Amino acid sequence: MSRRGAPVEPLVERRGPLDFPGGPGRSRRVIDPQAALRRILSGLAEQGPLSAERVPFGEALGRALAEELVSERALPPFDNAQMDGYALRAADARRPGARLPVAFVSAAGSSDLPPLPPGACARIYTGAPMPAGADSVEMQEEVERDGDLARFRRAAVAGRFVRRAGHDVAPGSAPLAAGSLVDAGAVGLAAALGRTELLVHRRPRVAILATGDELVPVYRSPGPGQIADSNSHMLAAAAREAGGEPFLLPLAGDSRAAIRRAVSAARGADLLVTTGGVSVGDRDLTREVLESMGTRLAFWKVAMRPGKPVAFGRWGRTGVFGLPGNPVSALVTFELFVRPAIRQLAGLTGPSRPELPARLAVPFEKDPALTYFVRARVRLARGALLAEPLATQSSGALTSATGFEALAVLPPGRSRLPRGSRISVVLLRPPREERG
Ligand code: AMP
Ligand code: MG
Repeated sequence: MSRRGAPVEPLVERRGPLDFPGGPGRSRRVIDPQAALRRILSGLAEQGPLSAERVPFGEALGRALAEELVSERALPPFDNAQMDGYALRAADARRPGARLPVAFVSAAGSSDLPPLPPGACARIYTGAPMPAGADSVEMQEEVERDGDLARFRRAAVAGRFVRRAGHDVAPGSAPLAAGSLVDAGAVGLAAALGRTELLVHRRPRVAILATGDELVPVYRSPGPGQIADSNSHMLAAAAREAGGEPFLLPLAGDSRAAIRRAVSAARGADLLVTTGGVSVGDRDLTREVLESMGTRLAFWKVAMRPGKPVAFGRWGRTGVFGLPGNPVSALVTFELFVRPAIRQLAGLTGPSRPELPARLAVPFEKDPALTYFVRARVRLARGALLAEPLATQSSGALTSATGFEALAVLPPGRSRLPRGSRISVVLLRPPREERG
């Protein structure tokens, strides 16, 4: 698929300043999304990966290993059969048609087996220990039984269908490097090595703060002019999905004192994510309060839609994100900026999401000064990804906060992208199936 289209530059590696119609003065205040992400990740570099803790391996799932997994055992621990069949000395069946008496049976779990007498074979099952002296297993499909005799249809080959002790993991070797993702297979490997606990990096603690006089907690019915605070819960879910440990701060109204009080409760968090109050309205106090409390902001405007007002800075050891209040803007900026930060702190390496080349299914009009991150349904069409923007791109429409597979990245510099344009998509979920 990538061979067909022109190479698409990945979001995280695109470099260089953008041309803004407003001229250089404007470009200094507004940075592009790639530069924003770079500043975030370098701004948090000394914090991460976070300290390590030893946890039962079930709780280690999805986290980054903070130790090299060194094996005290051999895997497999003993020579064993790879097939149901017969164990023998290959030298005893050099030619097809050899007949050997069946001396005994080795089943899975057998112990204290006698050595295999010369000129004999043993019935053996998958995973069962090889008797001393045997060097080959023949699968039962290639053997005819005649009472106590086994007739081997073909010549035996030494080592065939034998799993040697230590072949998979030698004692003292390190089958998993520090920094590896603990996935289901890694849990299986750790269990096979007798490990019930693993040393993994701590999950980042992510404090979430919603601001706005109109907000009421979800368990209360909104009065006139009020709405439920949905962002806190949406961002907590996104933080958890990214590998963080979210906690909600009390809602703050649009007053300096209330925001200050709520932000104070975030002390000790690895990240603080605020939503609302970062644009330029009179009541948009979040940025002002954060700065007055000592947050050093690296930027507060990114040339993107949705989400132009988005701020990042450091407050002591806490990384601070000021996300917009519009739910979709909050979700998209979280996805693009906070999720990679959580992953870096958690010690998880590799891209936050795959970014792949795709084609635009319909034409799209845009502001040429901004990178657009368009919520899009993505499907495979003749092996290539086709991105179809959701009909509503309104950043307040909560129905459009779900039900899409990707963010289609529409670069700056153009005001109209025709149908079929080569773009890239940040895939959040697998694409839909190819149609008929
Ligand atoms: P703001 O960024 O504070 O100007 O808010 C922009 C829009 O997002 C307004 O319509 C707010 O009511 C809405 N909004 C802000 N915070 C939240 C929240 N926590 N949950 C749901 N909607 C919100
Ligand atoms: Mg507000």
